[in-house]
Amino acid sequence: MDVIDKLTILTDSAKYDVACTSSGVDRKNTPGTLGNAVSMGICHSFSADGRCISLLKVLMTNVCIYDCAYCVNRKSNDTRRAAFTPQELADLTIQFYRRNYIEGLFLSSGVMRNPDYTTERLIETLELLRTEYRFGGYIHVKAIPGADPELLTRLGHLADRMSVNIELPSQESLKLLAPDKTKESILLPMGHMKERIAENSKDIVKYRHATKFVPAGQSTQMIVGATPDTDYRILNLSEGLYRKYKLKRVFYSAYTPVLEHSLLPALESKPPLLREHRLYQADWLLRFYGFEAKELLDEKNPNFNPLMDPKCNWAIHHMELFPVEINKAPYEMLLRVPGIGVTSAQRILKARRTGALDFAGLKKLGVVLKRAQYFILCSGRTLEGLRISPDSALRALVSDNMRKKHLHKPEVEQLTFFDELDPKNPLNTAVSREDVVQCLTGQM
Ligand code: SF4
Repeated sequence: MDVIDKLTILTDSAKYDVACTSSGVDRKNTPGTLGNAVSMGICHSFSADGRCISLLKVLMTNVCIYDCAYCVNRKSNDTRRAAFTPQELADLTIQFYRRNYIEGLFLSSGVMRNPDYTTERLIETLELLRTEYRFGGYIHVKAIPGADPELLTRLGHLADRMSVNIELPSQESLKLLAPDKTKESILLPMGHMKERIAENSKDIVKYRHATKFVPAGQSTQMIVGATPDTDYRILNLSEGLYRKYKLKRVFYSAYTPVLEHSLLPALESKPPLLREHRLYQADWLLRFYGFEAKELLDEKNPNFNPLMDPKCNWAIHHMELFPVEINKAPYEMLLRVPGIGVTSAQRILKARRTGALDFAGLKKLGVVLKRAQYFILCSGRTLEGLRISPDSALRALVSDNMRKKHLHKPEVEQLTFFDELDPKNPLNTAVSREDVVQCLTGQM
């Protein structure tokens, strides 16, 4: 099998992994090295459904000794198998990087032989990239649960970000669908990474030349909609992971049925993209808006409202806290007003030091009045002509959300590396097979 065939198989097998954004690292290019990574995110673009497509997202191998029911690479699935050698993968990454196809590497793998063997091959690949090719670009690598902690430490010193996929939100779901994995086997490497990151931050202060350990932190991915687990359960788990393991991100992946299985949604079911979107919105509220999972959902209402985003939904159910006086409300309360984000809340604090704000002023500061107007007062007044009531707010917010959903609709598919270019979609940066062949044979 030639490298192109391997690339076709192994980029296609990797497309279900969504945990691949790239922000959080600041490493300048130095003389004699290739590539750099900047903290606001390398030059990457996203497919219409929000997935990052400018990293070379690929598996080391799709051979796997495990049999996770939801995975195309499970050992019992009859599919074409391939494996890169570390040299092939390192060469490929550098060739693509030099030709500006990619800005970095997102490397995952099936478990070949055993977790240690697989991790050693990942290490070998990254060592080639970092030492032989002196590649300074962004690398996100998957940690293989069950691998020796020493190997994970070596891997972490070569990568910018590492992640262990938790995949399913509960032990029961894991038992049913991924019988070779346990919650402990996933949480153990997460704990190890958290400790090493903490130790490394001290080493860096003490020793000028200490190598960084996963400077962009660790992340994980959860599949949404493959099991009956509720949004409440998923969000609670995310909250726990952020607190306990200091994760940078939890990624949510709407389950795309690829295999027939009695415990999984039918093959013709659509991926629950709106549910995935609501979880991302709620996740944002946990990380930047001071919300807790139990404020957004509970046992009685365990799933998000499909008609309204979680912040609006929370506000509508807490009308007793509104309207808030924009010229006096504390920052924490401003953040809870629909239509006011982190930036606009900070701008309000700054602007009101010099004088009272009115509705026109708020608009200039970036507040989305269409939503905020039902929850705020400016110098004791509502927006002219507006009568605030829970009903009017509810009607307006639902129709606003419905309109947005309609506008942004897209029936999107996950792209593969070789997907056809769509001239109407500027976000589609897939490359053609011919380009890749030419690139590898040195004709470009
Ligand atoms: S271990 Fe990973 S690659 Fe292997 S079957 Fe499970 S999810 Fe798929």
